[in-house]
Amino acid sequence: MIERARAEALDAADPLATFRERFVHDDPGRIYVDGNSLGRLPKETAEALAARATEWGSRLVTAWSDWIDLPLSVGDLLGEAVLGARPGEVAVADSTTVNLYKLAAAALDGRPGGRAIVTDRDNFPTDRYVLEGLAAARGLELRLLECDPVEGPSAPDVAAACATRDVALVSLSHVAYRSGALADMAAISEAAHAAGALVLWDLSHSAGSVPVRLTETGADLAVGCTYKYLNAGPGAPAFLYVRSELLSELRSPIWGWFGQRDQFAMGPVYDPESGIARFLAGTPPVLDLTAIEAGARLVAEAGIKAIRVKSAALAELAVALHDAWLVPLGFELGTPRDPERRGAHVSLRHAEAWRVCRALIERANVVPDFRGPDAIRFGFPPLYTRFADVWEAFDRLRRLVEHGEHLEVEAKPARIT
Ligand SMILES: *Cc1c(COP(=O)(O)O)cnc(C)c1O
Repeated sequence: MIERARAEALDAADPLATFRERFVHDDPGRIYVDGNSLGRLPKETAEALAARATEWGSRLVTAWSDWIDLPLSVGDLLGEAVLGARPGEVAVADSTTVNLYKLAAAALDGRPGGRAIVTDRDNFPTDRYVLEGLAAARGLELRLLECDPVEGPSAPDVAAACATRDVALVSLSHVAYRSGALADMAAISEAAHAAGALVLWDLSHSAGSVPVRLTETGADLAVGCTYKYLNAGPGAPAFLYVRSELLSELRSPIWGWFGQRDQFAMGPVYDPESGIARFLAGTPPVLDLTAIEAGARLVAEAGIKAIRVKSAALAELAVALHDAWLVPLGFELGTPRDPERRGAHVSLRHAEAWRVCRALIERANVVPDFRGPDAIRFGFPPLYTRFADVWEAFDRLRRLVEHGEHLEVEAKPARIT
């Protein structure tokens, strides 16, 4: 039996506990365990956005001299605090989808002899679609790894898919969006490099939740979201990373003026910047960059190592509660059991996953998300999730399913899940 007191004791000993108060919580009864399509709003971010709006109002176009380098300065902040990259390797621009396109296209241009792109069948939809589109446009093969749906892709899977030595690019997620499986970045990069391929990582579910060591693990390229564990708000733009040794070799498929050397000379022909700025396209979203900066500072202040320690402990509690309470109710763990092999969310599988998820939101004020066909994804962002929240979420979940309340809600999934 796992008592609530045990969760409360873990909260009392939690060195990150005070960070919770740095976020907006306007409904104390709501357990927000979304996993993690949208992080909470930090109070400092609301203040920074208001200040930026005031600055816009008063300084107008003259403020651009202070704003124009934000894509690179915020990129460097993320590079150091979150991504394990060197200065000048990270920029913030566009969405994850668009950045994935830009970097994958650049990689394919840089490996003209390649005939195939490798990803896995369970990768996030936008990743698969972007790669599918690039493969179709260039007459390449999109080679889909068939991996264990819980454990995700491994280095031997990648080595086998690249054995034909005709692969230009391997593109995978570091933390799988549904299962939460954490890929072995170093071993997979090594397997791809041994076959002559470049590697592009999607860090959407790892940035701000698990330590990422891009330089150390030999990653070539990476992209990822800022509105998940970096709490930068709905639709905030993404980051992109290019290993500095590749910068002179690779160029963006979008020849925009923000990537141009000496941009305001308004020159006659495209001549890209030598640094990471060559992967910028158009005018940066200054308000969003302000929010990303504030979110990244919070992560930096807490420290990614401390975040990871708490995250692993939150997930451990969730798995223990699942085993004790939920297995008898038809649930199955959809996330690796080994704490070293998972990110910051836990997926539970259930035959009625959609209705359980819906009922949790409508009747129990617990907000996870549904990821078809049968997974409920619970995210436990360590900066604002208490151990008692994990306990409470799963306690409400077991009561709801025990009473069959999920059978009383609409069976058809909504437009947004
Ligand atoms: C959330 C997420 C995205 C989202 O991409 P957008 O362009 O911001 O819509 C992409 N990839 C992964 C792996 C994600 O988890």
